[in-house]
Amino acid sequence: MKVTVVGTGYVGLVTGACLSEMGNHVLCLDLDASKIQTLLDGGIPIHEPGLEEVVRRNVSAGRLEFTTDVERAVSHGTIQFIAVGTPPDEDGSADLKYVLAAARSIGRTMTDFKVIVDKSTVPVGTGDKVHAAVVDELAKRGVKLDFAICSNPEFLKEGAAVKDFMSPDRVVIGAEDERAILLMRALYAPFIRNRERMMVMDVKSAEFTKYAANAMLATRISFMNELSRLAEKVGADIELVRQGIGSDPRIGTHFLYAGAGYGGSCFPKDVKALARTAADNGMPSKLLTAVEAVNDEQKQVLVQKVVDRYGDDLSGRTFALWGLAFKPNTDDMREAPSRVIIEELAMRGARIQAYDPVAMPEAARVMPASEALNYASGAMAALEGADALVIVTEWREFRTPDFDAIREALKDKLVIDGRNMYDPTLIRTFGLEYRCIGRP
Ligand code: NAD
Repeated sequence: MKVTVVGTGYVGLVTGACLSEMGNHVLCLDLDASKIQTLLDGGIPIHEPGLEEVVRRNVSAGRLEFTTDVERAVSHGTIQFIAVGTPPDEDGSADLKYVLAAARSIGRTMTDFKVIVDKSTVPVGTGDKVHAAVVDELAKRGVKLDFAICSNPEFLKEGAAVKDFMSPDRVVIGAEDERAILLMRALYAPFIRNRERMMVMDVKSAEFTKYAANAMLATRISFMNELSRLAEKVGADIELVRQGIGSDPRIGTHFLYAGAGYGGSCFPKDVKALARTAADNGMPSKLLTAVEAVNDEQKQVLVQKVVDRYGDDLSGRTFALWGLAFKPNTDDMREAPSRVIIEELAMRGARIQAYDPVAMPEAARVMPASEALNYASGAMAALEGADALVIVTEWREFRTPDFDAIREALKDKLVIDGRNMYDPTLIRTFGLEYRCIGRP
């Protein structure tokens, strides 16, 4: 099939690459000329395990192409995916300007039947707005062309995006047009060959499903984060509690980790956007408001632990910080807790020596090195001259570090762990003071 993907970011590039892997001829469009140039030069603008290989293979086979030429992109695919960003607007609602601009550019240039598929995360009712934008552009041209609207929310996880796209838990298709449903079924059939996992529903329910999923996951995290604070007060161990409840199949083990707060490009903005939709419909969500508030507070928990130990004035103190990305296996720094933590520590006069295995170039772009912040060449190099170590992201390479070397390097022999990576008893036998989340 001929497919166009509008927006070549985390979702668009993975979608395009994986669809080409199944033999489709995919053209990826982005307005960011430097991103497209990087791809045309054989580079990959983001860090995503396994992606480079899939892209390279399909580019050489001629099945995957990149362009900034809107007309070429619109004329290419019968299926037009919109995978552009939907950042939060000032009032928390999803800003649809990129989605609607993409829809208009399709309406402005299309010359035959198109299935316009919204893959961006968008509020309920956006399908109607996309439809209206295309109709309006066609009317301006004085032409009548047939097209169908489809919602196909994306559930991939950054850091495992290729794997998630290649074998999805489910594919949600919101469409009423029979041709669109038929084409989308055919497009996704190779990805769900051995088990039917396609759910076809109306457009609004599909749009809602994506927000409901992310809001549920964020709720679990905030629930555990709030309980972790209570656990510290009453002397319980949240890790044991997590195992205790996770073994119940009604609860399950996923997304029950207390930590330094959730971040990334999705949960924060999607919780906000769903809360906005609720408020706009006259039923403000007490639950979602609390989920967000708990998370904002949780991003301060590591800072509070530093302040508890050293006081509010941190001038003359140096902290090593491990992990900058909002989670492991990605270079995404959007809404990363590390950004809040670094800002808060620096505001109190501290110096930070940060290290992340892949996110440092992106981190340096959003937080340039300064008097207060420098980026270290390795995990151990970050410890040199530091008073204490603060761990923010649970990269694998931090899982079994050389505790002796850490003790030798740190002036105060203190590890503050925002991800509960270590056995408290074990690490203390190495002569390290250990403070973590929700554990005695
Ligand atoms: P991103 O910022 O990485 O990529 C968006 C791309 O769209 C950018 O490269 C931008 O230049 C391009 N763009 C904007 N307007 C354009 C236009 N009119 N024509 C062509 N290109 C245009 O964003 P992302 O993380 O890939 O997210 C995209 C959407 O998918 C969002 O709605 C997001 O909520 C959703 N989503 C993201 C994830 C994730 O893990 N990142 C997962 C599921 C869903």
